[in-house]
Amino acid sequence: MITVDNLVKSFSSRAGSVRALNGVSLEVQAGSVCGVVGPSGAGKSTLARCIALLERPDSGAIRVDGTDLVSLDGSRLRAARRQIGVVPQGDSLLRQRTAAGNIALPLESAGVDGPVRRKRVGELLDLVGLTDKAASYPDQLSGGQRQRVAVARALAANPAVLLADEPTSALDPETTGSVLTVLDRARAELGVTVLVVTHDMAVVRRICDDVAVLEDGKVVEHGKVLDLVSDA
Ligand code: ADP
Ligand code: ADP
Repeated sequence: MITVDNLVKSFSSRAGSVRALNGVSLEVQAGSVCGVVGPSGAGKSTLARCIALLERPDSGAIRVDGTDLVSLDGSRLRAARRQIGVVPQGDSLLRQRTAAGNIALPLESAGVDGPVRRKRVGELLDLVGLTDKAASYPDQLSGGQRQRVAVARALAANPAVLLADEPTSALDPETTGSVLTVLDRARAELGVTVLVVTHDMAVVRRICDDVAVLEDGKVVEHGKVLDLVSDA
């Protein structure tokens, strides 16, 4: 379970200070898929970056299975980051590495041995349906295939949480389906807890159990998709 408790994050710029998160609280059940929606500027990406431990909030707590991650430093912070797989916004693959090479990256950083790494990369390629594309470079893959590689890479270190920031925003409806299927499989087969930032209500209807609506740095609504989204 992920518990976000009263998260505050401000940014200062020449124009003054912006409070991107103004006391965000959220609970996501282990093994569920939660969508985060809301207008542009609501704080969705900032929330995602805080949960991914890429941004440190000014105050508040982020607990995964009871451990507060906000206060961690150094090697404990790096270890906690490995518990959270991130599918970044936009194209994030290394152009000069194959699909398999991209998926292997987090395993290489973690010092996983060659044979173990190879087996794990093979399993992940299978999970995302790209076994036949192992040796293809990103330029040889479609947008949807590239995103599925990014999901596999995010899952490589066996994280408890998978965080995807607008994973389908650059894709057409058909390819969007293939990426959503992969996120759904990750939850079903690996038991990972999934957080999806999206502006697309079709994504929410298709794979999310819960949805949180963010506005002006606050959660204004949070509940079951079936209760909150019409036509769900
Ligand atoms: P969303 O993802 O919902 O569009 P963001 O989290 O990107 O919202 O942004 C929330 C607010 O915080 C916006 O007003 C944005 O301009 C501001 N903001 C986000 N990141 C930064 C930053 N690095 N520096 C300054 N302001 C930022
Ligand atoms: P690159 O040229 O992109 O670095 P490599 O072929 O050197 O790609 O492989 C990088 C990593 O991916 C290595 O850890 C390797 O074990 C793994 N790997 C490569 N091809 C496969 C494959 N078909 N199945 C599983 N793992 C693979």
